[in-house]
Amino acid sequence: MTEQFPIYLHNTLGRRVEEFQPQNPDEVLVYTCGPTVYSYQHIGNFRAFLFADTLRRVLEYNGYRVRHVRNITDVGHLTNETLGTGVDKMEAAARRENLTPREIADHFTEIFHRDQALLNILEPTAEPRATEYIPQMISLTERLIGRGYGYCVKGDVYYDVDKFPSYGMLSGNTVEDLIAGARVEVGEGKRSPADFALWKAAAPDKLMRYESPWGMGVPGWHLECSAMALDLLGETLDIHTGGEDHVFPHHEDEIAQSEGATGKRFARYWLHNAFLQLSGAEKMSKSVGNILTVGDLAERGIHPLSYRYFTYQAHYRTPQNFTWEALEAAQTALYRIYDQVADLLQSSEPAGLTESGAAVRNAFREAINNDLALPEAVAVLNTMLSNSTLPPEDKLSLLDDFDRVLALDLLAVGRGLIVAGPAEREILDRRAQARAERDWALSDELRSKLAAGGLDVKDTAQGQRWTRSDVLPRVQAPQTGAGH
Ligand code: AMP
Ligand code: ZN
Repeated sequence: MTEQFPIYLHNTLGRRVEEFQPQNPDEVLVYTCGPTVYSYQHIGNFRAFLFADTLRRVLEYNGYRVRHVRNITDVGHLTNETLGTGVDKMEAAARRENLTPREIADHFTEIFHRDQALLNILEPTAEPRATEYIPQMISLTERLIGRGYGYCVKGDVYYDVDKFPSYGMLSGNTVEDLIAGARVEVGEGKRSPADFALWKAAAPDKLMRYESPWGMGVPGWHLECSAMALDLLGETLDIHTGGEDHVFPHHEDEIAQSEGATGKRFARYWLHNAFLQLSGAEKMSKSVGNILTVGDLAERGIHPLSYRYFTYQAHYRTPQNFTWEALEAAQTALYRIYDQVADLLQSSEPAGLTESGAAVRNAFREAINNDLALPEAVAVLNTMLSNSTLPPEDKLSLLDDFDRVLALDLLAVGRGLIVAGPAEREILDRRAQARAERDWALSDELRSKLAAGGLDVKDTAQGQRWTRSDVLPRVQAPQTGAGH
């Protein structure tokens, strides 16, 4: 373990920034609510996964080992989860596409994995599927019934929120407010409208149904995260993450279930990201149909890592507006960084840090450890690049170091930008010779020839410098407003 610096995180539980202290300094236990794989994950969803990935990288940067579990939801997520009504999203998609729920899940999980890799999101330590956790969900439900928190009504099992006095501790909702605001549904046989389903009976015409002590049915959505977290991470997690829409009911219900079953604190720090929204505060959502995917961005000539860089321009707890203009500007800014890396790599290599380099490193760490202040961390990087007194070796070491958190492939892309093949090398040599002989006409001709092959050459006091123009995607379509 390296030298420790304090990390501060905003805990939704208590709504304040606290110094992070893991239970066990050797391993931090993190759980992230994963994708519901009935459709594409849009770039708003990926804001949540990029945030969780950045959190993990910040912890690792600080010397911690992280056990990160992120599930795949392939059963149980209803179309209206706030009210606990509607149909299972997987089941609805399967019927629409005339496929099995498993085929739908496999298809969209594969696309999710592909996009996650393009965004440099690390694979979690474990990625359990809800459908593989039915036995654990059933035994958790039995345990809750045994401890007086669950009750069965005609094949459905509900959680009795009145039995859990701290219900509402995360969201600040009280049972009375929920009922008065009609944010919960009166259900046949429910003791209180605020009670939520642990298990739901499923009729024979349903595509997804499982045997249970209460008859054929499906688990409630909240149950899977409790069952998987308890199984793979133990009774108390260090950090639980998700989008802010999950605070209620999903995470509130995860707490009620997990703590009801174990009598122990479920998660010590709750971290929630704000939404990516289209201008006009409209949220990007699959049900509204205004979604954009990583593939849609690629079609426009946007590099996936430009989207990653774009997300660093807003703090994770601030809503971020999506516009094509802002995304394209982020790409331009990132490409400018790549070009600077390419220039640096043509004159030097990463090496140890001088004292001024170490001071820049501290400023970066201070920013990321301050509740993941990525806008400040990126500002430290950009200021460092334009600092004319810092040695280039320091700059390259720092870029390499910062990239453990930023995951923008800074050095790898920089190296790719300066690749020149043997034929190009030969033209570059001829051009250097022509310049030495002050043959400007030939020098220009050779420059055009190189440019036509994708190599842009410029002349500096230190000689020729070049970058490839055919490595990074370029924006294709004319700029338009937000959305489609
Ligand atoms: P889902 O696939 O709907 O279960 O969502 C996966 C994750 O994306 C959850 O953590 C959501 O809270 C999060 N999420 C959904 N929409 C957005 C959005 N527009 N911006 C940021 N996070 C989102
Ligand atoms: Zn969850």
